[in-house]
Amino acid sequence: MKSHAKAVVIGGGVVGCSVLYHLAKSGWTDIMLIERSELTSGSSWHAAGGFHTLNGDPNVAKLQAYTVQLYKEIEEISGQSCSLHLTGGVMMADTPERMDFLRLAHAKGRYLGMDTELITPSEAKAMFPLMDETNFVGAMWDPVEGHLDPSGTTHAYAKAARKLGAEIVLRNRVVELTQEVDGTWNVVTEQGTVKAEHVVNCGGLWAREIGRMVGVELPVLAMEHMYLLTEPMPEVEEFNKSTGREMIGVLDFKGEIYTRQERNGILLGTYEKACKPWSPVSTPWDFGHELLQPDIDRIAPSLEIGFKHFPGIEKAGIKQIINGPFTFALDGNPLVGPVQGLTNFWCACAVMAGFSQGGGVGLALSNWMVHGDPGFDVWGMDVARFGEWATLRYTNAKVRENYSRRFSIRFPNEELPAARPAQTTPLYDTMLANNAVMGDSWGLETPLWFAPRGSEPKDVVSFHRSNDFRPIGEEVRATRARVGVTEIANFAKYEVSGPGAEDFLNRLMTNRMPKTGRIVLTPMLNEFGRLIGDFTIAKAGPRGGEERFMIWGSSAAQKYHMRWFEKHLPKDGSIRIHRFDQTLVGLSIAGPKSRDLLQKLVDVDMSTKAFRFMDFREMAVGGAPCMVNRITYTGDLGYEIWMAPAYQRLVYKAIKEAGEEFGLVDFGMRALLSMRLEKNFPTWFRELRPIYGPFEGSMDRFIKLEKNDFIGREAAAKEQAEGPKLRRVSFIVDAADADVMGDEPIWAKVGGKDYGTVEKPHGYGAPRFDAGGKEVRGSNAAEGASAVRGIVDGDWRVVGWVTSGGYAHYVEKSMAQGYVPAALAENESAGLFEIEILGHRRPARINVEPPFDPSGEKMRT
Ligand SMILES: Cc1cc2nc3c(=O)[nH]c(=O)nc-3n(C[C@H](O)[C@H](O)[C@H](O)COP(=O)(O)OP(=O)(O)OC[C@H]3O[C@@H](n4cnc5c(N)ncnc54)[C@H](O)[C@@H]3O)c2cc1C
Repeated sequence: MKSHAKAVVIGGGVVGCSVLYHLAKSGWTDIMLIERSELTSGSSWHAAGGFHTLNGDPNVAKLQAYTVQLYKEIEEISGQSCSLHLTGGVMMADTPERMDFLRLAHAKGRYLGMDTELITPSEAKAMFPLMDETNFVGAMWDPVEGHLDPSGTTHAYAKAARKLGAEIVLRNRVVELTQEVDGTWNVVTEQGTVKAEHVVNCGGLWAREIGRMVGVELPVLAMEHMYLLTEPMPEVEEFNKSTGREMIGVLDFKGEIYTRQERNGILLGTYEKACKPWSPVSTPWDFGHELLQPDIDRIAPSLEIGFKHFPGIEKAGIKQIINGPFTFALDGNPLVGPVQGLTNFWCACAVMAGFSQGGGVGLALSNWMVHGDPGFDVWGMDVARFGEWATLRYTNAKVRENYSRRFSIRFPNEELPAARPAQTTPLYDTMLANNAVMGDSWGLETPLWFAPRGSEPKDVVSFHRSNDFRPIGEEVRATRARVGVTEIANFAKYEVSGPGAEDFLNRLMTNRMPKTGRIVLTPMLNEFGRLIGDFTIAKAGPRGGEERFMIWGSSAAQKYHMRWFEKHLPKDGSIRIHRFDQTLVGLSIAGPKSRDLLQKLVDVDMSTKAFRFMDFREMAVGGAPCMVNRITYTGDLGYEIWMAPAYQRLVYKAIKEAGEEFGLVDFGMRALLSMRLEKNFPTWFRELRPIYGPFEGSMDRFIKLEKNDFIGREAAAKEQAEGPKLRRVSFIVDAADADVMGDEPIWAKVGGKDYGTVEKPHGYGAPRFDAGGKEVRGSNAAEGASAVRGIVDGDWRVVGWVTSGGYAHYVEKSMAQGYVPAALAENESAGLFEIEILGHRRPARINVEPPFDPSGEKMRT
């Protein structure tokens, strides 16, 4: 074993071997993988080996498609077969709601380049005759599904990596990790210490233990998982013989089961409701190639439905039941990337579908390590997406919830109950007393809407407009007509201070930094000129002679942004960044009477002249020390008021009392989001994401190319000079009783005209290199864009995709935002666009100017 390496990958499961292969392929050959036992000694060896491309997050779906397409490549390089069976598969819907869900998934696939097809139960039965099709109302066919040999596949990655120069050390446990002052890692193993620049945690079932070696509690938990194998079945053999084909994979939502052919019999696995964590606190180091005791009672309810839906299987004898553990993060997607607060400590763990996702995870992580950027929008699996609130017990509750709901529909207005409430503000009980329906906002309870007195504060979950529609409308109308108050504790808040703080922010942000007492809005770009942040920044008065800035952003991106800020801080410690999280909370008041209301609570002049639009000031509100921004996301006259939690009840009470004479109402987050729609304001992670450039995102007025050399400036200048290919636009949709939710395809009647690209970007051209050091830009299927193939209907074509939307209650319009080719972005013609909602194409019209207060006069007065 060598004593030095550029990178040490810990763990020889499918994920570790994929990371090793991709690092080697990127040109890093001074790398090694250290495995405690033999390769596949965690969950990889007993996996059912199924793979598929579909995922709720389109960007993760794209990386899954890459994984499937990679298998041929590693087979060729390694000479090791993965035993790939690309059978295709169906998802079976047993109710109209589940069919709506499949329609949505199918519509999404239209711009992801996926060839899914909605089919009848009889068509599904023809491909899997063991089913009783009368149990179903429809199905979706996906040709890119199948199964493989898990062990062969892991070894194929490993052999391919070795051929490219990587070293693999077996039967050697990593027992400790320490870091030198210069950043070098000491990887202490049973066979000695390796000095490494980078360490990657691919520990699978032991990822948590490896995290603990560096003081991190990763939100990952192993769950027991069972599948059964039947004896050979004559029906299967007969089908194979008569059709010359293998039986397809089937996913049955109702039974929470998946099933497919395995040799001459059937494999059937369950995601049962009565699920069970395995080793919930720590994983024994001596666990190896053994299986857990099957517990048929736990899966009996799923089997009962399964045997009813697939009577052919019930008749077969059960040969074996496999019960093995594998790991999940809270939302079922992997934890990938650099861990915030540490240097060169990387994660690729909690990969619950290693054979669907392992390739994409390896590619993204190796890009990140070698080139400083994953090259794709990997937010859906970024290790930074969970906060400190994701403790061991929180994770346990959420993972169990996620596992038991794996095949359940998540409705767009559905809030999941496990591990809640976790964080609450001092107003939590008051909001409950006000009949608020609460939602989870990055671990914090946040009022979503207020149910009428006397009614139960509860969402009726649906794909259609629901019981919150009318109350939200009332909140919006009262706020726009008079004044409303809402909690905004769920924003991210930071303070940046120290000499040179302004220069530091100017280097990071695209807009000029404000003068003292003023506010700017500014995007943040990465080196490739892609959007990685969108902030409100105020310059506070100096403290102790030091420059001081307040920053507000997306709460879910707090760790993601801290990681970026820390990466770019000067090494001399002169600039400090403080993340407040819930040590600073807030309230927003908005509406034409908000100034009069606030004036009653402060001892300074609030007139338009004295406190202008986009002013910032520290002042006492209702007797509490606060910071006040003259800005609101409602796009109306309004204010954001920030205070320490100890003062929040005082300020809220003062607002409520002073507001009585103006007809003040409480409004929730959903009303706020409705109001931002009618102002065409974007949201972070929906409209603005790292796959878009700032001009594509229609953020032009916040990009000051001439101000100084900020990160991403060159790429942004290029985007502007060449003209963006796409543009973010706002639509008014002729919707029926359902509004867009995001990810719907946008159709245009383009006739014979060519409006350029109809492609959704996924990667953004981070340079990468082959084993010989040659640049191979754009060589991966997952990179670049997914062409929208064959989606033409007469003169109509799919030209874009929706990012978010809903009902804009004040202007009484259903609205959507999304991306279309730039050449179409200013075309407001009626009859040009349609947006597909739940499988029905609805007329839509671009709305260049926001329908509410297009001149912005109201917020400025
Ligand atoms: C019953 C069952 C069915 C499944 N079916 C499917 C399926 O159909 N499709 C699918 O895609 N996935 C399936 N999975 C999940 C799949 O097995 C996992 O996604 C995958 O194995 C995860 O791989 P990994 O490399 O992250 O972790 P693991 O396979 O757990 O590998 C981690 C490795 O790290 C090593 N290690 C840990 N700590 C150390 C240390 N300190 N020093 C050295 N080495 C260390 C371990 O020995 C182990 O070999 C199934 C899992 C189970 C249990």
